[in-house]
Amino acid sequence: MNMEENSAFKEKMVSAPRSPGVYLMLDERGRVIYVGKANDLKSRIASYLTGRDTRPMAPFLMARVHDIDFITTTTEKEALILENNLIKKHRPRYNVILRDDKTYYHLSLNPKEPYPRLQLVRKRLNDDALYFGPYPSGMAAKETLRFVQQVFPLRTCRSRFFQLRTRPCLEYQIGRCLAPCSGFIDESAYRKLADSTVSFLQGRRRELISDLKKQMEEAAQDLNYEEAARLRDRIHS
Ligand code: SF4
Repeated sequence: MNMEENSAFKEKMVSAPRSPGVYLMLDERGRVIYVGKANDLKSRIASYLTGRDTRPMAPFLMARVHDIDFITTTTEKEALILENNLIKKHRPRYNVILRDDKTYYHLSLNPKEPYPRLQLVRKRLNDDALYFGPYPSGMAAKETLRFVQQVFPLRTCRSRFFQLRTRPCLEYQIGRCLAPCSGFIDESAYRKLADSTVSFLQGRRRELISDLKKQMEEAAQDLNYEEAARLRDRIHS
């Protein structure tokens, strides 16, 4: 049944919420065939209905879509993370078609490094690193990296640069790194930050929040209110 014949589905698309979130398109058999994110779900869905989405695969997708589900989020950044986790889970056919056209982008972090670096990579290697993604585009991956850095300020500099540094770089000045290069954060505190980053990127929200709350209480008990406030902001991000 196409969309014209399925009026209940068309109505559902038209009544999409006006908020950030993720949409899942399903085929007749209930299989997820496409996952996308939007800052304004209603307007994004309208672009499919009015033909404003000019990607070559859009008409083929619309011919097969039978139902749609929405998951609203508080921010577009949260939607971006959720979108990637859902793509990984469902491996939707049309996301795969799109992705095969492009270079694969991932975020990567090697937990075996003493001060793990968070970086954007184009290729997954068979090494000790953890990989997050793939992201639908280089822009989506960069956007995620920027957001993650604001909340979890891990270093992004190359290891050689890191080893030679004695003073923090601009990343520290703009609040996107806690400058382990200059000893401004010790290894165990940095390790906790790296672990939280991994939980966040893997979508383990409940575990992450309970861990951050525990760290916040410990910081408050040690009268380290600055750190407690930072952890509180991380919980609410
Ligand atoms: S502040 Fe130091 S550790 Fe952080 S990115 Fe700059 S050089 Fe690297």
